[in-house]
Amino acid sequence: MSNFQRLVACVALAFVGFAADGKSAPPYAYYHAGNLTAPTPGKTAPGMMLMGGGEWAAPAFHWFVEQAGHGHIVFLRASYADDLQNGFLAEIGGATSVETIVFSDRSAASDPKVLDIVRHADGIFLGGGDQSRYVRFWKGTPLNELLDAHVRAGKPIGGTSAGLAILGAYSYGAMDGGSLKSTVALKHPLGSAVTLVRDFLHLPYLANVITDTHFAARERQGRLIVMIARLAHEEKNPAITGIGVDESSALCIDASGIGRFYTRVNGYAWLIRPMREPDGLTRGPFNFRDIPVTLIGPDSALDLKTFEVSRPVSRFSLNVVDGRFDEAALATLAGVQNLATQPAPKHWALAIHGGAGVIERSDLTPAQDAAYRAALDAALEAGATILRNGGSGLDAVEATLRVLEDDPLFNAGKGAVFTADGRIELDASIMDGSTRKAGAVSGVTRTKNPISLARAVMEHSPHVMLAGSGADQFSREQNLEQVDPSYFRTERRWKELEAWRKDQAAAIDKTHRYGTIGAVALDESGHLAAGTSTGGTTGKRWGRVGDSPIIGAGTYAADGICAVSATGTGEYFIRMSAARQVCDRIAWKGESVQSASDATIASIGGIGGDGGLIAMDGAGHIAYAMNTVGMYRGVVTSDAAASTAIYVDEKILH
Ligand code: ASP
Repeated sequence: MSNFQRLVACVALAFVGFAADGKSAPPYAYYHAGNLTAPTPGKTAPGMMLMGGGEWAAPAFHWFVEQAGHGHIVFLRASYADDLQNGFLAEIGGATSVETIVFSDRSAASDPKVLDIVRHADGIFLGGGDQSRYVRFWKGTPLNELLDAHVRAGKPIGGTSAGLAILGAYSYGAMDGGSLKSTVALKHPLGSAVTLVRDFLHLPYLANVITDTHFAARERQGRLIVMIARLAHEEKNPAITGIGVDESSALCIDASGIGRFYTRVNGYAWLIRPMREPDGLTRGPFNFRDIPVTLIGPDSALDLKTFEVSRPVSRFSLNVVDGRFDEAALATLAGVQNLATQPAPKHWALAIHGGAGVIERSDLTPAQDAAYRAALDAALEAGATILRNGGSGLDAVEATLRVLEDDPLFNAGKGAVFTADGRIELDASIMDGSTRKAGAVSGVTRTKNPISLARAVMEHSPHVMLAGSGADQFSREQNLEQVDPSYFRTERRWKELEAWRKDQAAAIDKTHRYGTIGAVALDESGHLAAGTSTGGTTGKRWGRVGDSPIIGAGTYAADGICAVSATGTGEYFIRMSAARQVCDRIAWKGESVQSASDATIASIGGIGGDGGLIAMDGAGHIAYAMNTVGMYRGVVTSDAAASTAIYVDEKILH
């Protein structure tokens, strides 16, 4: 988000819709910011963001904006003003425009201007407030139909608090103006305060679902269980399922019905799915035993096609006896509550590579093996020091790669490979996932640390990529450290060139054929960054440029989705848009970071290329993929000490 866009947001105009006679009170207020007429930059994709109220989990919202193709986001609400859209512009950003419609009565839900805005939305977000106003103002109106049509058209919808309460096929409508307490619901399951709403929104995968919000914080387990029981009984549908979402957390459901969970605190999504009718539903206190509950956390995945949860945080069952949870249930809930109220430890992660290739155990002496691992450890420590102290992912990537550029073991900076005519021409790129800004250089000859030059291009030039003598000149103008080209020279690389001159690629010392370096990082603010630096390939000619400085091929980063750095036969990585391919598989197909990385490397293998890549998703999960027998690599996170690996069969701990 540029300062300019922020400014635009601050001066967003409130539009007041006058009725035709010019006198009656307007049925809605309208606010907007950004470029309303620009085309949607990306492709929209289906998605549902179920937010439990409270603060926003930024990676979830980044995912939502990505599903909306970074286009036009429309906030719909029935109270307050433009505070949500302003918060969005300040904290999230990445959209082409934002609009807010605040409904003050039912007629606005048939207003042609309102309907037109909603029809053109790339992403719709329903704010918090009082859900009974949504039910009264929207249910059965043209707007209701449009919301369903928006989702059918493959565009994302999200809601928080009251906005989440109405996303399921069934909802708690709070139609009596109150807010149902669990204690009351459990005592009077058939009481008039249990106001159930049907036939409002019709979203995929939520046909049997009733949602609830502010879940653990407001102890809503009891009321959701009562509503599930009522619906199972009244609808004669034992499959009625409850999903409760904790505050400052979101469950994001993709096109294939896979839900992933994000939280700023130790929140959970609670899956309550008894698959049977209650033991007894009478006017008197409620009884229902063995109600199965599954807690979904950031490492879990909920498949809404089957309601199976992989890697759940916990599974337990609760008993309601005579209108109250029994002792065991109360103890279980108190335990979860305790956990959930602890602030989540700040998570950060850093992964690096030092090139992929034919690196077998027999190729390295114990001393060489140890030297590579020590070099990887030193680089990890440089980046980890920054991340541990709350620094940015971008700073960590740059610092990490500078250490490896200075190390003659790797094919980047000092120790880079030679071109066919005995020169050293360096390539590097860096990308900031939060702004999607990027910088790259190619064929530079005198900059000691090309990764810093790439960053300078990103931050201090209007361009993304500079090449050759122009890049060298920009480097001098930026006062970056200059060295004589002989600084980069190592005897080992010179011998490789001589061997190459005799017998082309086959003659290169195979263990040292590769050595490109790369890093990806997630900082504790949730921002991703990626960078790559290389000398390219031995014997390269005619100003050859590989994938490393190409944004989308060797390097890519997008907050909430993934950061990637690649290494290998660059020509193939360019042709397969390798780095961006990993991110698109995650964002558009809902693949996990590991499957997306494996599939991308397979696509490169499919056209004859070899190499590997490192990738990290928005939550900091790390994947390594390669179709070579080795890749120098390492990882360190806020939860795990540094770990390095070289050979393909080595496990890396994270
Ligand atoms: N990908 C680099 C290039 O083609 C080389 C490597 O990763 O080893 O320039």
